[in-house]
Amino acid sequence: MKRSVVTGGAGFLGSHLCERLLDEGHAVVCLDNFITGTPANVAHLTGHEHFRLVRCDVTDYVHIAGPVDYVLHFASPASPIDYLNLPIHTLKVGSIGTLHALGLAKEKRARFVLASTSEVYGDPQIHPQPEGYWGHVNPVGPRGVYDEAKRFGEALTMAYRRSHGVDAGIVRIFNTHGPRMRPNDGRAIPTFATQALRGEPITVAGDGSQTRSIIYVDDLVEGIVRMTFSGHPGPMNIGNPHELSILELAELVREVAKSESPVTFVPRPEDDPTVRQPDISLARRILGWEPAVDLRSGLDSTVSWFREHPDVARPDVDR
Ligand code: NAD
Ligand code: UDP
Repeated sequence: MKRSVVTGGAGFLGSHLCERLLDEGHAVVCLDNFITGTPANVAHLTGHEHFRLVRCDVTDYVHIAGPVDYVLHFASPASPIDYLNLPIHTLKVGSIGTLHALGLAKEKRARFVLASTSEVYGDPQIHPQPEGYWGHVNPVGPRGVYDEAKRFGEALTMAYRRSHGVDAGIVRIFNTHGPRMRPNDGRAIPTFATQALRGEPITVAGDGSQTRSIIYVDDLVEGIVRMTFSGHPGPMNIGNPHELSILELAELVREVAKSESPVTFVPRPEDDPTVRQPDISLARRILGWEPAVDLRSGLDSTVSWFREHPDVARPDVDR
């Protein structure tokens, strides 16, 4: 039986990944300090005989007894509200936390996968973004704590691959949505869905012409699992190339929620990227993967989840 360690496994993406790896027949150790995640996200897995949840801050240490085949490093605040609230922790988990997770993979001779992000491209000047694009990031702006932590994590991952021969790879994840997002995490979809369901105004930043390309969590997890098992070093974009403006997204969420909320325009955050769209040719070619869930049906599932869970456990970071 294969054994996987998922750091940040009690978060939104990590919890889906733990579930999927158990389905693949793996034993799964989930490490989390619950700073932005919650044990409730994996409560349905805790009775599984091959699932173990360990409270641990990966910036302190990562120690696991016994063999490990895969280390998937997902621990990090991920929503702009979280990393702006936790700037130093974000830098620590992207640097020291990644160092510890790579150290575990080295010791166990395990395959390592870093959850990187489309944010490494910053406010991109090449569109869509292929993996060969080096990005356009403001290191000293408020978002720099996240973007640079991930860029450092990528450099460290490649150094462990080159210098220590660790079978390490990097996935660059684009905006993802699905069940278990927190209604108050400040990201566009949870915010719009919650506002639409409550009949409150939907807060579109700027004039809403900035774009994003959003992927449903099931598609993302399929891509990540295939990338993990492929042994490919990456970096590899995993996202849905379907690009739309934030105003279009707000209107679509409102329609899916059958809401009559008005749209209201609010100031745009500093360094908010103007466009974002993954070039997924590499994932198509290497993994034979592409997203299968269309935007509207994905949003249907996400909005339904917010409708059914208006009061999900909210960690202290929610304001
Ligand atoms: P999340 O906040 O729901 O999950 C992150 C998890 O990491 C949480 O459970 C949190 O408690 C845990 N964590 C944070 N610091 C930790 C530490 N020091 N030790 C142990 N656990 C710690 O966020 P998410 O959306 O699930 O994102 C997961 C990963 O995917 C992150 O690395 C993020 O950067 C990356 N990512 C996510 C997206 C997205 O759209 N969701 C996009 C790009 C990249
Ligand atoms: N956004 C918005 N209203 C909100 C929250 C976000 O218009 O209430 C915008 C945000 O400014 C950005 C886009 O939606 O242009 C996506 O933001 P999100 O935080 O979801 O992801 P990221 O900026 O990290 O891609």
